[in-house]
Amino acid sequence: MTSAITRDWVGFNTFAAATQTQLLQLLKRLKDENVNKLTILVIGKCGVGKSSTINSILGEKAVTVNAFQSEGLSPVMVSRSRTGFILNLIDTPGLIEEGYINNQAMEIIKNFLLNKTIDILLYVDRIDTYRVDNLDKMVIGAITDGFGKEIWKKALIVLTHSQSSPPDGLSYDEFFSIRSQALVKVVQDGTRSKKYDTVASTIPFVLVENSGKCNKNVDDEKVLPNGIAWIPNLVKTFIEVAMNGCKSISVDKKLIEGPNPNDRGKRYIPLILAFQYFFVIKPIQRSIKRDIARH
Ligand code: GDP
Ligand code: MG
Repeated sequence: MTSAITRDWVGFNTFAAATQTQLLQLLKRLKDENVNKLTILVIGKCGVGKSSTINSILGEKAVTVNAFQSEGLSPVMVSRSRTGFILNLIDTPGLIEEGYINNQAMEIIKNFLLNKTIDILLYVDRIDTYRVDNLDKMVIGAITDGFGKEIWKKALIVLTHSQSSPPDGLSYDEFFSIRSQALVKVVQDGTRSKKYDTVASTIPFVLVENSGKCNKNVDDEKVLPNGIAWIPNLVKTFIEVAMNGCKSISVDKKLIEGPNPNDRGKRYIPLILAFQYFFVIKPIQRSIKRDIARH
């Protein structure tokens, strides 16, 4: 197992005092619930702000941010501790290459995660991409195929670039609502199951602004156009997802090598074929023979 060295969460001290106070209260809430570690898997298309979001959460440049280059194939886990609590953040490469899912990248991510437990899936996208495209569908499909539908019960969607102005005279709230609804729809389609419709619609969305130009409130906290201090809000949502009663995803050999967790229905294929043979093909053959005998 690839394990990261756990360092002191020194970047914590770079947050505004008000943010630190809120974060400490949130960490205490976890401690009261006997949760002393959270592992968060960060996934999304290239260049949407995965690495930047990790750095913002940690308050330090822990992973490489690059506007112009692809990210290499290896995931990276950064591990930080504060007041006895360990936060593991796993940065992953974008899964798309030349318009297709890079299966090799997916395999590398899965092997990297072997023997780890994912408490939260952080799906990252930009708020200011106005259309959901095929790439979103492919990435969501690949996550579902790779880890099973259950992972969406542990998901949280982050929309970066949240200081962007809404298009077409929309209000900020309308902009957010349209964008989040569009993504919920892709998760619903990507999980291809009616039963999961409810799950998709309950996935929380959190707005994030990683830019150094993010506005600040009177307490010097980074705030969004709607006035929300986003770092404490994001960590609060982590805790809600971690404690939502659904099981974390343990990545074991079975999950990695075993049958695709979404393909269980396939075991009925031989039965269906046998049924078709005896109850469809055979009767047709018999009637053809009868027909031929008659003429
Ligand atoms: P990744 O490929 O998903 O890891 O994306 P990066 O974190 O490397 O970010 C790609 C580019 O987008 C970099 O130039 C970042 O500075 C920029 N970026 C990321 N998040 C934000 C954001 O919230 N706001 C703005 N304005 N730029 C961002
Ligand atoms: Mg990156």
